Amino acid sequence: MNPEEFFRKAGLKPRPLQLEAAKQLAEMIDTGSVGFQAPTGFGKTITVLAAISLADAFPVTWRVRTFDIAKRVSDDCALLGLPFFIGAGREKLCPLKTEYKNNTVYFCRYLKHKCSFFRELSKRVISREFFEDVFNYEDLSNKVEHIEVCPYYLQSFIDRKVFIVPYRFGLPLNVNLEVVDEAHNLVLDLQSFPEEKLREALAELDLKEPIEDLIGSTLVETAQMRLVELLEMGRRPLVAGSVLSLLQGAKFIWREEGVVNVLKFNPPRGRTIFVSATLEPLAKIFKIPVVKIPVERKPVAFILSWLTTRFRDFDAYMIKQYNDLIFLLRKNFERILVFATKRISRHLGADFVEGAPQDWKGVLILYSRGRKSEGVNIESEAVVIAGAPYLPPYVHVERIGITHDETVAVITIQNIGRAIRQPENNPLIVLADERYLKLKQFLSDYFHFVEVNDLQELDRLLKRKQYSSEVLREKF
Ligand code: SF4
Repeated sequence: MNPEEFFRKAGLKPRPLQLEAAKQLAEMIDTGSVGFQAPTGFGKTITVLAAISLADAFPVTWRVRTFDIAKRVSDDCALLGLPFFIGAGREKLCPLKTEYKNNTVYFCRYLKHKCSFFRELSKRVISREFFEDVFNYEDLSNKVEHIEVCPYYLQSFIDRKVFIVPYRFGLPLNVNLEVVDEAHNLVLDLQSFPEEKLREALAELDLKEPIEDLIGSTLVETAQMRLVELLEMGRRPLVAGSVLSLLQGAKFIWREEGVVNVLKFNPPRGRTIFVSATLEPLAKIFKIPVVKIPVERKPVAFILSWLTTRFRDFDAYMIKQYNDLIFLLRKNFERILVFATKRISRHLGADFVEGAPQDWKGVLILYSRGRKSEGVNIESEAVVIAGAPYLPPYVHVERIGITHDETVAVITIQNIGRAIRQPENNPLIVLADERYLKLKQFLSDYFHFVEVNDLQELDRLLKRKQYSSEVLREKF
């Protein structure tokens, strides 16, 4: 089907750039993996679905990070009349999950031959009609409630054009290609948990090795085997399963301020369309061509050159400087969204940390490398990146083909993106770290820059209302 017809069928009037991008993508996926970079609000999902239709490449898996995004993709599929299914992993679908809790994945992976639900699968003939009213994993779970068959593995029997599944969904499906939504997460898949949890897990597994040995060694595999042994013996460790799942497949594991950080790197599993608003590092690492839609709206960002959270410079004086900045912003704005690392955030005066009510007012801090810093829209009048969010220097991201500067650029774009998802959002953007001066080259596709050299100068700009992107844009 040509893309014009595809959009028309859904009652949509495509923008010329959407049609062009769909045609280009359709041609390129014929020859291998490809990236699609377009700003928020462009209609990336519909464009990619049109490209897949044009290339006649259904069925596909569509990997997403959260259920909200899965829902959004399924709404577009429904609009276009494309049969879809929202799948889930064992932790949601396994009927034995109340017994095995965090260990469910390990029990299933290594001991499923002992599972009656799994054995039942091979005994039953399940027709296509059985799945007719099944659109997501909850429907499936309800449907099989009384027939004692494994719903997780049953997902591979479903016949749909689009399978919307979580990033780490491991069940092989019979598809022609993959789409990875918000694909920048593949490069910076960063998760953290308290060090105490790791100690608990080691105690449960009766492993005496020092914590450092588990970090960055093959001991993770030994620990996994130990967990399977305990499960076979009828034991049910409480935290070991979830801790080991987090550590498994990690490229880098490091400790920082009582927290264990895990950085994973997920290479593509075959022919893939990577979709995101920021694809630069990923495209470089995977050496893929990218169809790029230029950013229509390029807001102005202030770079505050008297501030830095660089480890050796972040002292009591600097902490006061950051708090003076927040104080000044409080005088001018009702809702101030601040992104900071955990290390920095504990020194900043805030009303809310990592969450606030819908109608919040004041200062809300979100961790710049935290889960809440992505995928949600948070309206605010000012958005501040309090310190360039560098990973520690001993995390050698160069080994996966990117630089520390690039990781900061990606995190910054995503953080600010939370506050400017809608065209009407026009907050003051503040990059509060002098190191952004040298990062301009990585960010200039997304922002214009104004360097501000002290708090008084910023105060003057704010008083004269010379901060709005609309006003400043005229200068460029
Ligand atoms: S086979 Fe299915 S029911 Fe059995 S443990 Fe695995 S996920 Fe659970």
